[in-house]
Amino acid sequence: MDISRRGFLKLSGLSVVAVATGLGLNPEVVEAKGYALKIEGSKKIPSICHFCSGGCGMLLYVKDGKLIHLEGDPDHPTNAGTLCPKAASLRSVAYSSARVTKPKRRAPGAKDWEEISWDEALDRVAKKAKEVRDASWKASESIVNAKTGQSEVFEVNRAEGIAFLGSAEVDNEESYLISKFCRVLGIPYNEHQARI
Ligand code: SF4
Repeated sequence: MDISRRGFLKLSGLSVVAVATGLGLNPEVVEAKGYALKIEGSKKIPSICHFCSGGCGMLLYVKDGKLIHLEGDPDHPTNAGTLCPKAASLRSVAYSSARVTKPKRRAPGAKDWEEISWDEALDRVAKKAKEVRDASWKASESIVNAKTGQSEVFEVNRAEGIAFLGSAEVDNEESYLISKFCRVLGIPYNEHQARI
């Protein structure tokens, strides 16, 4: 009988299952034991997925400070144990060698990015924000009064050169703080990525 490599592997798999079942092994029990072994010695930490504002519940299994397994939280009202592919890939994201973990800067005209400290990054952002705010500040604006048809000058006090873009990971409390932050700086353009 001619048999391909794939066919051979399929047949051997079937034979193993057949033998196992014949010996009284219950595949469901084997699967449950495999799962128990996988998470053995780990700490289960309930958490929330950070990838989008869906806020699905997750169970993270951490051993020796490392995430070894994750799954949807069956008791969470949003996702009832399910997870979308983005969340299911979270472990790879956390440990990816391509993950950027430190601030980087590409100097004007430079080809490469250089690593900088958080202090330097925050100082640079604050300095730039002040610079742009001062340069684009609008204290008043002439607006036509709809009733009288006459132009009137109104105090507006806004930094027209800065916009704030929120993220899908932002929750209600963070959104509140972001809008407060924008009001303090006089930033009128406060958007959310989901609307773009
Ligand atoms: S990314 Fe997926 S799992 Fe995470 S909160 Fe959004 S829908 Fe839920």
